[in-house]
Formats: sequence, C-alpha cells, structure tokens
Amino acid sequence: MKLLEGKVALVTGATRGIGKGIVHKLAASGANVAFTYASSAASAKEIETELKVYGVEAKAYQSNAADYEASEQLIANVVESFGRIDIIVNNAGITRDGLLMRMNEAQWDEVMNTNLKSVFNITKAAQRTLLKQRSGSIINISSVVGIRGNAGQSNYAASKAGIIGFTKSIAQELGSRNIRCNAIAPGFISTEMTAELGEDTVNEWLKSVPLGRAGTPEDVANAVLFLGSDLSTYVSGQTLNVCGAMLT
Ligand code: NAP
Repeated sequence: MKLLEGKVALVTGATRGIGKGIVHKLAASGANVAFTYASSAASAKEIETELKVYGVEAKAYQSNAADYEASEQLIANVVESFGRIDIIVNNAGITRDGLLMRMNEAQWDEVMNTNLKSVFNITKAAQRTLLKQRSGSIINISSVVGIRGNAGQSNYAASKAGIIGFTKSIAQELGSRNIRCNAIAPGFISTEMTAELGEDTVNEWLKSVPLGRAGTPEDVANAVLFLGSDLSTYVSGQTLNVCGAMLT
C-alpha cells in the first residue's frame, strides 16, 4: 500500500516549480490531488492529466489564494468533489523584490496578501472540515529568508516569518483535535522564481550552501511527503529547513 493511499491533498500554486514537484510526489504516493493556479490554465490542464497517470483523482482549480471569498469557495468545491481534505499545502507565493527605499505600498501588499493572507484564507476556510474529520496535516511553505532576513526582500521575509508564527499558533489551537500544522523553509531551490535572479546573486547564494548545489522541487516535495503522511503523526508546530545546511 502506498504511503498516502486514500488521502486527499490540496496544494495551492502548483502549475510549476515547487508546487508542481509536490503534486507529482503526492499523487505518486497514492493521494488524490486538488491543486490551484492563478492564471496558467494550460499548464494546470497538462498537470491534471499527468497526475491521473498515477491512477489517482486530480483536479485543477483557478483560485486566487489571496482572495478570502474565493478561498472559501475553493474549499467548498474541493470537499464537494473529493469528500474530505487530509493534507493542505499552502505553497502559492510571489516575490516583488526591492530595497525598502524603493519599495512601494503595492509591492508590500501584493506579497503579504499572496504569501501570508493566503495561508490564513485557506486554513480558515478548511478548518471546519478538518475539525469534523478530527484529523489533518497543514503544511505551509515558508523560506529560509523568513528566518534570517534578506536585504531587498523585506516584504517577502516578513510574509515568510509571519507564516512561521501562524503555523506554531495553529498547531497549538488545533492539536487537541489531531490536526497538525508545520512549516517548511526551503533554501535556494531551482524554479522559475529563482531563474529571475542574476548570475552573481545565484553564485552568492550557492556559496552559502554547504551541500554545494541548489535544491530541487523534489527535495522539498520529499519533506512534504513526510509531513503529510502518518510517518510524522507526532510532529507539529515545527519548521523543517530544506536548505542544504545553509546557516539560518
Ligand atoms: P513559482 O515557480 O513562481 O510558482 C508559483 C506558483 O504559485 C505558480 O503555480 C503560480 O500560479 C502560483 N500562484 C502565484 N500567485 C498565486 C495566487 N495568488 N493564487 C494561487 N496561486 C498563485 O514559485 P516557486 O519557486 O515554485 O515557489 C513556491 C513556494 O515556495 C513559494 O511560496 C515560494 O515563496 C517558496 N519558496 C521558494 C524558494 C525558491 O528558491 N524557489 C525558496 C523558498 C521558498 P500561476 O502559474 O497560475 O501564476
């Protein structure tokens, strides 16, 4: 029997990068997978088809994770189609980098809404379903930048640090109902998000990675598999760094 056989997972922002790696890993491990995207409808359709090859149910939903009402509707739709939700991965995230001197209000708000408010939106909307089930594993994708900060990313770092505080609080609030909540803090992972960075910045990051390479979406997905499965039933309120031993 596969590790996640019979479980239902919801992953936000899975049309590429880390989210795509996560949905593949979860489906390959036997979970039925619902996932969201913001605008990449063609990739979402393609991934839906790829996931069904694992012999599981898979469905893509266009849903803006930063929108409270859209998140409520999403959870209602997923529960209607899949019957339950066992694993939630709050992965959707963006960057709008810039030094504070040049950062405008829109750059701050967009990042906070997409990266942090989204985690509140989805968790809040799913809470009732998880409480009724008396089980669930919520996994929030933070970042090492949320732990150590990064010049030029004060908005992103604040959103990712906020996720860690939220995660610890929810683990305490919902623990008595057998609902776990953990964060993953990836380091430097090769995706389209990091492909935007210049060569010098990439080399600077890589110098700080003792394992000597960028991480892959699969490296992060393996951590999600552990935290989503029954291998981690006594792990909650934690932040798991997946960063090649980078100092944080
Ligand atoms: P990415 O390649 O840019 O992919 C982002 C995904 O999120 C896409 O599927 C995108 O969908 C979706 N998305 C964006 N805004 C959304 C919204 N408002 N509602 C729903 N979905 C939305 O990013 P990534 O590098 O895989 O990063 C994934 C997560 O890991 C993020 O939270 C990021 O902060 C975190 N992280 C990444 C790294 C890294 O090195 N890459 C390191 C640490 C943490 P569309 O295609 O439709 O736009």
